[in-house]
Amino acid sequence: MSVTTTQTMTEAPTFVEATLDGRVPSGPVQTMWERTKFEMKLINPSNRRKFKIIIVGSGLAGGAAAATLGEQGYNVECYAYQDSPRRAHSVAAQGGINAAKNYRNDGDSVYRLFYDTVKGGDFRAREANVYRLAEVSNAIIDQCVAQGVPFAREYGGMLDNRSFGGAQVARTFYARGQTGQQLLLGAYQALARQIAAGTVKMFTRTEMLDLIVINGRARGIVVRDMRTGEITPRLADVVVLGTGGYSNVFYLSTNAKGCNGTAIWRAHKRGAYFANPCFTQIHPTCIPPVGEHQSKLTLMSESLRNDGRIWVPKQPGDTRPADQIPENERYYYLEEMYPSYGNLAPRDISSRAAKRQVDSGRGVGPLRNGVYLDFADSIKRLGEKVIRDRYGNLFDMYENITGENAYKTPMRIYPAPHYTMGGLWVDYY
Ligand SMILES: Cc1cc2nc3c(=O)[nH]c(=O)nc-3n(C[C@H](O)[C@H](O)[C@H](O)COP(=O)(O)OP(=O)(O)OC[C@H]3O[C@@H](n4cnc5c(N)ncnc54)[C@H](O)[C@@H]3O)c2cc1C
Repeated sequence: MSVTTTQTMTEAPTFVEATLDGRVPSGPVQTMWERTKFEMKLINPSNRRKFKIIIVGSGLAGGAAAATLGEQGYNVECYAYQDSPRRAHSVAAQGGINAAKNYRNDGDSVYRLFYDTVKGGDFRAREANVYRLAEVSNAIIDQCVAQGVPFAREYGGMLDNRSFGGAQVARTFYARGQTGQQLLLGAYQALARQIAAGTVKMFTRTEMLDLIVINGRARGIVVRDMRTGEITPRLADVVVLGTGGYSNVFYLSTNAKGCNGTAIWRAHKRGAYFANPCFTQIHPTCIPPVGEHQSKLTLMSESLRNDGRIWVPKQPGDTRPADQIPENERYYYLEEMYPSYGNLAPRDISSRAAKRQVDSGRGVGPLRNGVYLDFADSIKRLGEKVIRDRYGNLFDMYENITGENAYKTPMRIYPAPHYTMGGLWVDYY
């Protein structure tokens, strides 16, 4: 972690002009990571327990890091403010996780996942890191399966795939509409194993209040025990922050109120660089707001766009219920505007398109602030049971919130702040 200033928590942050060095290795992107790993110094197994690592966060990032480093033999302390690692917000993830296994033999490859991700990110991501993500994606699926994550399988037993937006292949591994919950249970099991083995000490209901910086390096944290209020310093050789995103800088987002971004803000106040805060994803398929009393919005997983068709009435101001609007008076705007991706156009493109339709007076629902996501064609083609098997929990969630049965009438959806790609600046290694 790069540090440029030292200050107390009450001071306003100091902004320092600096040239950032991402330390991206030279040479072809395909071999960078293998070469970098080989060139790194190793720490032999009997020396690892001499190093203490503090990990803040027990979600998919922090929890998996703690379990892995604990298994390697490091002396790990893991901190989270929830009462159990299983309550990290990762539990809310729905639709699935991408990997370039090419099980469908539909032309996928590590390079294509890399390409789609760079393109889907509006060419703003650091390509070297995106390639590395694509490269390790297959190993992540293997690790999750080894941890017991019950991904959906086809009849013959192979792992099933569906598509996410911005892709023309099926590479999303999923567990119904509750993939995050299942992934987190897998990571938690691996973490619990290390806690039992004594390599990880877990501190729940413990909030990181500040970062301790010694000689320009993060060497500890100040924590508050949320039960007793006691404040203590904790020192280590290395501090890892896996503390989630900052979508809640928006008034309403798909994140629970607990996702408050405090840890990264506190690290930033101690001098860690904060980059690209505007790199924020507005997800196209959330339940539209219903009034002023809400504290958050609810995501309807992107995977629904595999089988749902998005449309609005062609005529602005049309207030007829969906089933009274004939086919030739419906505007399937994504299918018309982006025929090669159709309803699976990338998230930013789909979100902007939905906003344009609502702004033009074609919005649907009581507040005219949504667009339809319609499953009628898929139900006719595949039968209701198939749709229920794929997305049953999402349809139930939708009905609990809106009182509408999406097997009978189209869902109403609208974009909402969801995921943040900016945050604490990191270099390649
Ligand atoms: C509704 C929803 C659906 C999603 N669906 C998908 C999907 O289908 N596929 C996909 O790839 N991604 C999806 N995402 C995104 C994905 O869930 C997140 O990017 C990912 O789970 C974040 O994991 P994390 O470990 O970084 O953070 P989190 O799971 O949020 O964990 C943060 C951890 O940090 C701790 N923490 C934070 N601040 C402090 C502090 N000050 N002191 C102590 N501890 C602290 C918390 O206690 C927690 O343990 C979805 C997100 C949402 C909201």
